[in-house]
Amino acid sequence: MTPPASGLPRPVASATEGEATRFAMSVDVEDYFQVWAFAGVVARRDWDGFAPRVEMNTRRTLDLFDRTGAKATFFALGWVAERYPALLRDIAARGHEVASHGYDHAKVFDQSPEEFRADAAKTKRLIEDASGAAVRGYRAAGFSIDRRTPWAHEILADIGYAYSSSSHPIAHDHYGDPDGPREPYRPAAGRDLIEAPVATAEIFGKRVSCAGGGWFRAAPYAATSRLIAAAERTLKGPVIFYFHPWEIDPDQPRIKNAPLKSRLRHYVNLGAMERKLERLLESRRWGRIDAALGLA
Ligand SMILES: [Zn+2]
Repeated sequence: MTPPASGLPRPVASATEGEATRFAMSVDVEDYFQVWAFAGVVARRDWDGFAPRVEMNTRRTLDLFDRTGAKATFFALGWVAERYPALLRDIAARGHEVASHGYDHAKVFDQSPEEFRADAAKTKRLIEDASGAAVRGYRAAGFSIDRRTPWAHEILADIGYAYSSSSHPIAHDHYGDPDGPREPYRPAAGRDLIEAPVATAEIFGKRVSCAGGGWFRAAPYAATSRLIAAAERTLKGPVIFYFHPWEIDPDQPRIKNAPLKSRLRHYVNLGAMERKLERLLESRRWGRIDAALGLA
């Protein structure tokens, strides 16, 4: 998994922004009860019993992007596309990229290659039908493409995906390959498909995550801004950030019985997130991942 990053297309001007995009914003469109951290206490079969908030929170996210002039890539669950096709249409109509986050948040390393192929193909179709736009990007639930799934990128290329942003090359308790490439690369021999890892920085020789997650909500804005600047300095290619619509929703119902660590991570500073994101979005020009990869 260490092919060179050379030979990749250069970022090009985005059709919607008129200049090259270095900072790519992404949103993983899933609801508060579908996250990995709660998978142990919320059964997949019970999802329809929860009060949905994903449509409202995604619309709030779209308004935030309109206010700040940002464009982004929305990786949606097929499950969401089936239930909220108008939302998917609006995302595309407002100039953002629609992309796939798998059907129902099953981790790639929990699936067989055949199950993964069916899931990724079905989700691409569902999102294209809902949005009316072509789907070229894929993000694995919980960044679950790693050393356990050497077949995954080839399958994505077979199905017609142009890129994946499914790698978080850090040490983490749930996912990650601390030695994986930090820059976009072509993971499948002889195929054009690009893997575009989310942002990391190198500080005193140590690799740290700065792509989003609980730390972004927990830390003061100045600290997160410095980390993203470090990513900008130590990456040659795109700086890819991500968050979830539920992260700007302090009023979401609390999931009971979840482990303390999961609850701390999920609920930390939800009330401050929207303002913090707004500052981040205003601090730099953010665009879609396809534009940052020169695919737009
Ligand atoms: Zn997810």
